[in-house]
Amino acid sequence: MFDLNSESISDLGLKQLELARKRKKLEASYKAGKISQSTYEYIVKELTKAVVDLEVQTKEVSYERGFHFYEDAGKPTGQIALSLEDFARKVRDVSLASLEFHQERGDYANWIRDVFGEYSLAETVRNLKEKGEDLRKKILETIEGPQQNVVFLCPSCGKEVSPKRIWKMKGRPNRAGKTLQITLAHYQCLDCRKSFRQVLSKEIM
Ligand SMILES: [Zn+2]
Repeated sequence: MFDLNSESISDLGLKQLELARKRKKLEASYKAGKISQSTYEYIVKELTKAVVDLEVQTKEVSYERGFHFYEDAGKPTGQIALSLEDFARKVRDVSLASLEFHQERGDYANWIRDVFGEYSLAETVRNLKEKGEDLRKKILETIEGPQQNVVFLCPSCGKEVSPKRIWKMKGRPNRAGKTLQITLAHYQCLDCRKSFRQVLSKEIM
């Protein structure tokens, strides 16, 4: 599983180790009664999803089926992505001209749908309306998944706090029938008793 010649594999190995570590720590917290069962189950689900996502992200395709970046018709930038992970790396680098050119044509969404069969990911990318650096940030967030971290620092004393309660809220469907679902968590610092809320993830369903 470790291939020292391949940067992407070792990056992936590191990510998997990190996820395994998180899971171990989480189990310890749960057994020690520091987090509730609902919190535990939620995080396990998120971590499992993250591992599946890693597998999807590293699947490589042939040169021909790769994503070839252009700044305009007939103006290739020379950058080609062969996996979703590679794509995220290239998205960090490409010029804004190229980034926006493809988004306006729906090229990213079509590639993700047609080459990887990731329909819901594709539609999420297609619906991004941001421009410039915000677009770059949003595409990366969408491809790499929401931050799995649910441990936040207490805003008043700075100690690490795990969620007390996690719940989902659904908005009203928009004209296209899409609904925004937000996952929220309620925290209370064990040290200073400060309560706060955090949005953990936003999903368009
Ligand atoms: Zn505190």
